[in-house]
Amino acid sequence: MIPIAKPLLDSREHEAVLKVLESGAIASGEDVLTFEREFSEYAGTRFAVAICNGTAALHAAIKSCDINPGDKVITTPFTFAATANSILFEKAVPIFVDIDPSTFNIDPIKIEEALKKHGDIKAIIIVHLFGLVCDMSRILDIAKAHGIALIEDAAQAHGAMYGDKMAGSFGRASTFSFYPTKNMTTSEGGMILTDDEGIYRSCKTFINHGQAERYIHETLGYNFRMTNIAAAIGLVQLKKLDAFNEKRILNASYYNTHIDNTTVAKPLCPAGYKHVYHQYTLKVKNRDRFVKHLADNHIGTGIHYPLPLNGQPLYKRLGYSSAETPIAQQVAEEVVSIPVHPALSQENLEHIAKVINQYE
Ligand SMILES: *Cc1c(COP(=O)(O)O)cnc(C)c1O
Repeated sequence: MIPIAKPLLDSREHEAVLKVLESGAIASGEDVLTFEREFSEYAGTRFAVAICNGTAALHAAIKSCDINPGDKVITTPFTFAATANSILFEKAVPIFVDIDPSTFNIDPIKIEEALKKHGDIKAIIIVHLFGLVCDMSRILDIAKAHGIALIEDAAQAHGAMYGDKMAGSFGRASTFSFYPTKNMTTSEGGMILTDDEGIYRSCKTFINHGQAERYIHETLGYNFRMTNIAAAIGLVQLKKLDAFNEKRILNASYYNTHIDNTTVAKPLCPAGYKHVYHQYTLKVKNRDRFVKHLADNHIGTGIHYPLPLNGQPLYKRLGYSSAETPIAQQVAEEVVSIPVHPALSQENLEHIAKVINQYE
């Protein structure tokens, strides 16, 4: 079976981890600080806070942007659950806004409509889904015009670009995940980026039991720290990230030119964007049959995502309905991701394109 995702680790990660183990400094220390510095330099922000995973990164970003119980936060329903769940962690209220069916990203026009409908929106959390940055010039204009905080969930967009700016460099805060299926990994891990020193300090204390000073707890915090073991993996992976992304882009362009089955819709990459293809996501009408055809030919697939968040049991119990975002609802029934990760061989690519072209 060709897997839908595969982390690429070699002797460089092995040696880096071994070095940390031999040092005895296996919790949070120097490697974490170095990883923070190098990751923020890569993305072009002043500050970075390494954290135990991408979900905790979203939680810390929300808390540090002063989102409080009852505050309304606009976000997309077409994402991994962590995006909106992190709003619920602080007892704030997700307002789901529909997506653009051609990019899968939140639709700026629908953001404006939601802002008109709700006069009291506190923040917007956007997601650069599947490795494609959102329509930033319009979204930044909206956030500025309304004076509201913008948080980027860049968990799927390490190294993605809009014009000459990196994903994660637009918002008041941005968050990343380094889960093994992402464009780079630390095993479990995450990062918050910001240019704002106040947000930086707030995240640093939030992830460390609210301590600005040892054993002096100013606020309620958590233990969300990253380990040196994870950071050592991340430092090696960060050096490989551009090459990983280039291979993902090459794989995607192979599919763009070689998949010519008119029953499947290929993903779009608008001009001016660097799409890093965290996923290569097709739309098909008869998805179960398509998935079976690929599985019968030893090709793994992924459904990202089978339900918009407002159609999830958790959110339905809270009174939400996926009927409020009909485009996300429709798209969720049709999407299927095929392997695009950098471990694919030329033979894999040829096989996958051929099998898809044979589907009828
Ligand atoms: C992976 C992911 C997260 C959560 O990251 P974890 O490290 O798994 O906690 C959040 N948002 C999106 C869009 C993701 O893809």
